Amino acid sequence: MSELPDRARVVIVGGGVAGVSVAYHLARRGVERVVLLEQGKLTCGTTWHAAGLVGQTRATRNATRMSRYGIELYAGLEAETGLATGWKRCGSLNVARTPQRLTLMRRQMARAGSFGVEFEFIDPDEALSRAPILRTDDLAGAVWIPGDGKVNPTDLTQSLARGARMRGATLVEGAQVTAVDVDDGRATGVQWRRDGRDGRIACDVVVNCGGQWARAFGAASGVNVPLYAAEHFYIVTTPIAGVTADLPVIRDPDGYIYYKEEVGGLVMGGFEPEAKPWNVSPIPPGFEFQLLPEDWDQFEILMENALHRTPCLATAEVKMLLNGPESFTPDGNFILGEAPEVRGYFVCAGFNSAGIANAGGAGRLVADWIVDGEPPHDVWDVDIRRFAPFHGNRRLLADRTVESLGLHYAMRWPREELVTARPLRRSPLYDRLAAKHASFGSKLGFERANYFRPGGAGEPPPTLGTPGWLPWVIAEQAACRERAVLFDQTSFAKFVLKGRDALAVLERVCANVIDVAVGRIVYTPMLNARGGYESDLTVVRIAAHEFLVLTGSAQATRDFAWIERHIEAHERAALVDVTSAYSVLSLMGPRAEAIVAALSPDDVSKAALPFGMTRTIDVGHARVRAARMSYVGGPGYELTVPTEQCATLYDALMGAGEAFGLADAGYYTIDALRIEAGRRAWGAELSPDETPLEAGLVAMVALARPGFIGRDALVAQRERGVGKRLMQFTLDDPEAWAWGGEPILMDGAPVGEVTSAGYSRKLARIVALGYARGAAPLDAAALASARFAVDVAGTHVAATARVL
Ligand SMILES: Cc1cc2nc3c(=O)[nH]c(=O)nc-3n(C[C@H](O)[C@H](O)[C@H](O)COP(=O)(O)OP(=O)(O)OC[C@H]3O[C@@H](n4cnc5c(N)ncnc54)[C@H](O)[C@@H]3O)c2cc1C
Repeated sequence: MSELPDRARVVIVGGGVAGVSVAYHLARRGVERVVLLEQGKLTCGTTWHAAGLVGQTRATRNATRMSRYGIELYAGLEAETGLATGWKRCGSLNVARTPQRLTLMRRQMARAGSFGVEFEFIDPDEALSRAPILRTDDLAGAVWIPGDGKVNPTDLTQSLARGARMRGATLVEGAQVTAVDVDDGRATGVQWRRDGRDGRIACDVVVNCGGQWARAFGAASGVNVPLYAAEHFYIVTTPIAGVTADLPVIRDPDGYIYYKEEVGGLVMGGFEPEAKPWNVSPIPPGFEFQLLPEDWDQFEILMENALHRTPCLATAEVKMLLNGPESFTPDGNFILGEAPEVRGYFVCAGFNSAGIANAGGAGRLVADWIVDGEPPHDVWDVDIRRFAPFHGNRRLLADRTVESLGLHYAMRWPREELVTARPLRRSPLYDRLAAKHASFGSKLGFERANYFRPGGAGEPPPTLGTPGWLPWVIAEQAACRERAVLFDQTSFAKFVLKGRDALAVLERVCANVIDVAVGRIVYTPMLNARGGYESDLTVVRIAAHEFLVLTGSAQATRDFAWIERHIEAHERAALVDVTSAYSVLSLMGPRAEAIVAALSPDDVSKAALPFGMTRTIDVGHARVRAARMSYVGGPGYELTVPTEQCATLYDALMGAGEAFGLADAGYYTIDALRIEAGRRAWGAELSPDETPLEAGLVAMVALARPGFIGRDALVAQRERGVGKRLMQFTLDDPEAWAWGGEPILMDGAPVGEVTSAGYSRKLARIVALGYARGAAPLDAAALASARFAVDVAGTHVAATARVL
């Protein structure tokens, strides 16, 4: 019958704005035989009823680059395709009700400014002149972002669709994909149904752009796409006096609301703090161009705030309360990239009500990833591999969605932890540490003590300035440097790679020397072909053909997939995730050795267990692998113990440690001490965009050893010189407080952002890490003579800097 081919290079499932953007960008990259299958009509899922706000400001450099690219694309698309997108550069006006909100906006905009976003802080009077419908007497201030705007979501999608077709892509409506064929862990084709007929398209790549259907659709092929739909609302009014076509998009995040002008009236919607998941399973068949029933009770908090902010709404006629489902994810960020479970299976979904603004950037990113085999830059915050199988739990997703929708406009306090669907993963010590008043944070679902509240003190309120927990963390730092502390690091991801070719695999994926004596620990980069950090690992050689690999708690899925995919078909090596099999207790401080010695018949002295070595020893009744190593600087051991013996070991250590002043300590102390010691963390200082030469870690690379991934890029970079250097900054002002993300200024010009910041008890001020970037290679003399400052909410705080 139809225009459906038997064979394609890429099949895209779903014709919302995301799928069509992927098709457009693949076609623009010159990919032939791109086929998009949409079960209904293009846009019929969520896209058709979006409000169409398009903003540029996002949390990271790469995310901002994505959203800025979208604006550029939408503004120029009509000239290319002949179909208008409805793009209007009306600017945005974001208002702050409280001084804290204004400070938060100043911090966000300082960072956005360093990424190239134009903005201006204005007073309430000027806000009123830009948006006369606003009540401004209770505002603390506002920010004006002239480059933001709005678009018509349906027109945008149709314009992208025409652009894709003009370049040869095939977009088919009324064709449902009923299954993805997976053979030996690789996507090989799709099964479709159209007009009562079934067929198959063989293909190399499948892209799941199924919007709210993406989770169930992915699960059918064993692919975890943790998103969940929530009911999402706005009202549309008839024309209102004073609402003109040039009204900017207005956001009042303290009232959870936004506005845009539409045919002389207002569209007003928002992000209520307690959302309403759309608890339906499965999504009813034939859900096309459909809405959900009005729910004025759920909308009440938004309406009340809007009546306060724009009194004109009190007499306006509301044409409709639109309620449409939109997908939200456990951390409020998109889900992009190649699924770790199935090769050639990509996902582009989970847009958390920002899919229109970000479809351009996301579509380009996914297309580049498909064509080039890897993403063009660090995309960790949106990477599908940041999730683990447990994230697919539907109860968890529904409960988290109650919270995640509201994150859009919530005061995002630094180091704020989400509260729903917790506690989820618990170390065997959880109850013991809770009884000792631990304040827990969550990493990949694992509860981890951030700090301990002495005497069960109440939780200090969140702040942008000096936090209430600081004295406790200073005390933990003192205990670590002067006596001994115990950190529960059970959440570390742990793998065993075993088999005749295990060494060969690790020698290919790791950049350091791996062929070491049994028992030795190797800290090594795991690089991509560009020489950037896919991860940094601690590898322990357990036996000639067996290695224990420890990596960051958050990287479990990502690193496992990376290593496993680099085991070649002919190689005999099996990778097993043993995260749940072992706990890790880190005993750090000058008295650590005496405490272990008091509990162990084994010799744990430096001579018997030197730095960088491990040995299996008895500690109390437990059998542990003791490693002499330290992330926080100073003496100490990491003790890896079977999970079921963890509590036994902990009790023994705490019992013997009492005489030595042993204390519990948490992750805030780990972080502050490692920053002070200049230790890098993956996800902060290390990412796919940073190389060991830039991070000052080339000593951890065996450049003389051929055959590891990234070596050629490093050799070339060494010859070229590096244009980016990791530095440590000590803020001159002891009162200034940085959290991370603040712009770094070199001789007054922005050169990077703070990647990590912590309060050093030793220096009695903030110490931060971050990169200085230059257009040309940065030489040590220029860095040494430059003046550095950190922009804290618009104030330039001078800093003493050193290259790491
Ligand atoms: C009330 C509301 C207001 C919003 N306002 C904004 C805004 O102002 N700015 C902004 O950026 N975003 C906004 N959004 C969010 C935005 O609408 C979404 O993020 C975006 O439309 C998601 O696009 P998508 O392509 O991922 O999903 P969808 O548009 O839902 O597309 C998925 C498509 O996949 C198809 N499909 C599913 N399964 C199959 C299958 N097996 N075979 C074939 N086809 C299949 C579906 O039919 C559907 O058409 C808003 C959302 C809502 C609900």
